[in-house]
Amino acid sequence: MIATPHPPNLINQEQVLESIARATKNGFIAFNLGNEITIFSNKLEEITGWKEHDMLGKNISELFSTEDPMKFKEPTEVIQLSVNLFTKDGKQIPIETRSTPILGADESISGYLIFFFIEDYKKDLDKAQSEFISTVSHELRTPITSIKGFAATLLHQAKTIDDEKRKKYINIIKDQAERLSRLVEDLLAVSRLESKKLQLTIHPVKLKPIIENITMMVESKHKSKHKFDINFPPTLPDVWVDSDRLEQILTNLIDNAVKYSPDADLVEIKVRECQHDGKQMVRINVTDYGIGIKEEDQRKIFTKFSRLDSPLTRKTEGTGLGLYISYSLSKLLGGDLKVKSGDGKTTFYLYLPTEAHKGGVVWWD
Ligand code: ADP
Repeated sequence: MIATPHPPNLINQEQVLESIARATKNGFIAFNLGNEITIFSNKLEEITGWKEHDMLGKNISELFSTEDPMKFKEPTEVIQLSVNLFTKDGKQIPIETRSTPILGADESISGYLIFFFIEDYKKDLDKAQSEFISTVSHELRTPITSIKGFAATLLHQAKTIDDEKRKKYINIIKDQAERLSRLVEDLLAVSRLESKKLQLTIHPVKLKPIIENITMMVESKHKSKHKFDINFPPTLPDVWVDSDRLEQILTNLIDNAVKYSPDADLVEIKVRECQHDGKQMVRINVTDYGIGIKEEDQRKIFTKFSRLDSPLTRKTEGTGLGLYISYSLSKLLGGDLKVKSGDGKTTFYLYLPTEAHKGGVVWWD
């Protein structure tokens, strides 16, 4: 006997969507033609901290940014795009997405669905963290080995070492101990940034003496042939920042300019007033004529633990934390940090506020 097929029971489409949201490890949103979010999956809650009710009806620009926002709306079936997802606590997460149009009954586009590849992002994060542990272990091991070695030589061969050699070995021990302490400082700075327990004391600061001091420090540290061409306008307002954090950022930028331009002999520092993001700011350009940073690496260098692969970077001391710290601090101070590199020239642009962004002592949380 031939069974007569039963018509399938209708399944509620919304519940299907909810099941998909539960089953997939990735997050997704839907938005309408007015760019308002109409669906916000719970996997996105986990990674961004936003709840569904925070985001429904919001413009997609409040959830993520992308260099080419119109690309989502190209009439192709599936578009792949990298975006920066904004978290509730002010971080930006670089993440890959895939989007596709949602078609209405008459086949016309009624909105778009975007998938955020959270799983891939988490895997990249795990990889970056294990790479970081191996970098840090290596960076720690190198100075420790040399401190142990030279201390043992001084101890066991005290009678045979002349004064000149003794002085040289003690200097090496001192340099390596300083290197260790810089690494630990960087790690602590990252930890403070990430645990959001960073105390800022915002006050008006004069840039000239700070920049002059830092160039002197960097010059004596590297014993380099670099000349610093410092260019200030005749008048300049104070910047409203935490001076210790500002020194940390500028030291990193100026130190990098020297470190990554061993064959050049000039670092230019130019300070000007400017408009940035609709606000009156002071901009400090730090320019070097060194190895440069390829266009595709220019976003990467501001992320944690990223060191670009080059023979010079491999033999230069560093953990890849400096620019991550500098970028995060510049944002915390109400400023910004950008880079441009090409034609043998690399410039970092540090923007700082000229009025109280936050007054007095601030706990960032
Ligand atoms: P570190 O110098 O400790 O490695 P940073 O976070 O300061 O870490 O810089 C990250 C990476 O960016 C460096 O390893 C280097 O590859 C690249 N970089 C930074 N500044 C420059 C520069 N001025 N010119 C060329 N490359 C740079």
